[in-house]
Amino acid sequence: MSENNGTNIEYLSYLDEHGALLQPLPTPLQNRETLTQLYRTLVTSRLFDETIINLQRVGIIGTYASNRGQEAIGTAIGKAMLKDDVFIPYYRDICAQIQRGVQLEEILQYWGGDERGSHFKHQAHDFPLCVPIATQLCHAIGIAFALKYKSTSKVAVVTCGDGATSKGDFYESLNIAGAMSLPTLFIVNNNQWAISVPLAQQTASKTLAHKALAVGIDAIRVDGNDVLGMLISIENALEKIRTNQRPFFIEAITYRICDHTTADDATRYINPALFEEAQHKEPLIRFKNYLTEQHSWTTDEDQQLYAAAQKQINIAVANYKQLPAQPAGEFFDHMYEKIPADLAEQKQRFLLALNHHE
Ligand SMILES: [Mg+2]
Repeated sequence: MSENNGTNIEYLSYLDEHGALLQPLPTPLQNRETLTQLYRTLVTSRLFDETIINLQRVGIIGTYASNRGQEAIGTAIGKAMLKDDVFIPYYRDICAQIQRGVQLEEILQYWGGDERGSHFKHQAHDFPLCVPIATQLCHAIGIAFALKYKSTSKVAVVTCGDGATSKGDFYESLNIAGAMSLPTLFIVNNNQWAISVPLAQQTASKTLAHKALAVGIDAIRVDGNDVLGMLISIENALEKIRTNQRPFFIEAITYRICDHTTADDATRYINPALFEEAQHKEPLIRFKNYLTEQHSWTTDEDQQLYAAAQKQINIAVANYKQLPAQPAGEFFDHMYEKIPADLAEQKQRFLLALNHHE
């Protein structure tokens, strides 16, 4: 349903929290196989997320940022982008990576501190997950500038959380994208929390989308728990950007029904009633209801899909555990195409010290 919220920024949603359709879907999204594939990514991401948290708890994976409840955003991003577009993700984006063809083993490597996991076998252009807050936005506009300079129709798609929208990098990147008309799609995962800081304490802006309007970039707000609304809005945005070479901004409204990372305990600051309410609105429940009601999705099919996803994850975990450790000192090699002299010296000193200890 589209509605004008009194601010001239459109709000879009197709599935309500119970899975009822609010407006007719475009024909391609009436295809059962297409819908099932989206559901498969949602489920795989959810189960994989739970598995990674368990691996972190037993010391196999490092600090990890869960995306529980926010799977619709990444799934839609991965589905809508063309292969040659460039994805510049932040740390809560494994769903998009999975949908873009990044291997589960590679994702485990990344979170396990092995940088070889960021050299994707099936993705030549996408960037690794960015952990520093908002710096990826600056990278994205540089990439968008290059895409435009080379006269391509490719788009730089960059994501960030609501917390990042309070940073200078965010404002500067939006401003330059608007001023230079760079083919960039900004997608903000507004999950209401920047670690323990609620949105209302971060900004007095009426919505996060208004920050785009201020620099001349068109924006839309979307129900971030509705994978169909997200997919349609991203596809429309990408088509617009390819046509007019102007940036676009999507605020995806969701709720973080998990800790900020495995180093956090959200029960210390999130009201349990709010948390409980948000659990009922998460994306998997409504999408399964929709499939059940409109496409005769059965319990058997659901169980088979869950079992297949878990099997795929178990195989990835087993493969990951068998990978040889990254050679000591190799982490120096990944920052630049060619290692600069000062880092080369540090690497040499590190290896000497290591040999000395052995
Ligand atoms: Mg947040």
